[in-house]
Amino acid sequence: MTTRVNAQSYANVPVKYPKNIILMIGDGMGLTQVSAAVYSSKQPLHIEQFPVVGFHKTHSFDNLRTDSAAGATAFACGVKTYNGAIGIKPDTLPCKNIIEEAKERGLATGLVATSTIVHATPAAFIAHQHLRVMFEEIAKDIAHADVDLLIGGGLRYFNRRNIDELDLIKLLNKKGYQVHSFLEGELTSFRIDYTKNFAYFTANDEPLPVSQGRDYLPYASRFAPYFLDKHSENGFFLMIEGSQIDWAGHANQGALLISELLDFDAAVGEVLEFARKDGETLVIITADHETGGLAINPGSKMRKLDLAFTSSDHTCTMVPVFAYGPMSELFSGIYENTEIYHKIRRALQFDTP
Ligand code: MG
Ligand code: ZN
Repeated sequence: MTTRVNAQSYANVPVKYPKNIILMIGDGMGLTQVSAAVYSSKQPLHIEQFPVVGFHKTHSFDNLRTDSAAGATAFACGVKTYNGAIGIKPDTLPCKNIIEEAKERGLATGLVATSTIVHATPAAFIAHQHLRVMFEEIAKDIAHADVDLLIGGGLRYFNRRNIDELDLIKLLNKKGYQVHSFLEGELTSFRIDYTKNFAYFTANDEPLPVSQGRDYLPYASRFAPYFLDKHSENGFFLMIEGSQIDWAGHANQGALLISELLDFDAAVGEVLEFARKDGETLVIITADHETGGLAINPGSKMRKLDLAFTSSDHTCTMVPVFAYGPMSELFSGIYENTEIYHKIRRALQFDTP
């Protein structure tokens, strides 16, 4: 008697898809930035626990050196566009982003940043504007977008506007948001209504560097998945940005850079804890580009690094991708930055009708 292999039985092996996706972006976080944080920390970093690692090519539509607007548009929409473009294609027409697609399918959505919420990286995930500096136009897009959770700076672009008299905080309230800001208290201090959308403004303009007292990113990274999980039964897409890693790179400030990276890694730890308990969450960590052309010079010792920068700008090197959870294996290998979008869609089964 021969054993027949039943092809059907292979097809029936259940593939585990994630219910939730958390995309964490360290703006300007190249491989050397990650290495510098690993070698500066007494304990292993949370990021070291990610089982799948890949690299993506960061270049934009017409420039080997991308900026954060084109970089985030590649992640959000799957298209390479010109530097400065917020959620629009090279022909300046808007591209549909992953948050809009997630909302259509009933998923909850969230954006957390340590910059203003209208800054290029978070903006490209929901707004559609020709240029990244159109902050008040971007704020208007955000106020109308019905993202379930928003945490970041930039309150003044919502309620003290120059281009019009709109009060977008009033609008958010009218749309059913629970809106709070740093003026009332810390993020930890509010009684949360999980049935309502939630917005918390962490600063009028840009939030402080972590070295000057900003402390909300790790807590926000614990709170946001918990909130979205309670808020919706259909899963969620959440983007969390460590925005100021990039700024430390531009400023060529090594100590500042390490402090922002360690803060970002603390946020990674919070997200990983949620994902471990939940079991249905895919976590992806990457950068839009490297900033500063960082090197760890010979002569460096553990926790005594001789850091050097070759640029005050973004460089063109590939950047790492780390993944954990169901379908994380999609993220190994070397691919274009736009593939982050396509892989997220595949993991969420958006590519199958
Ligand atoms: Mg950014
Ligand atoms: Zn930058």
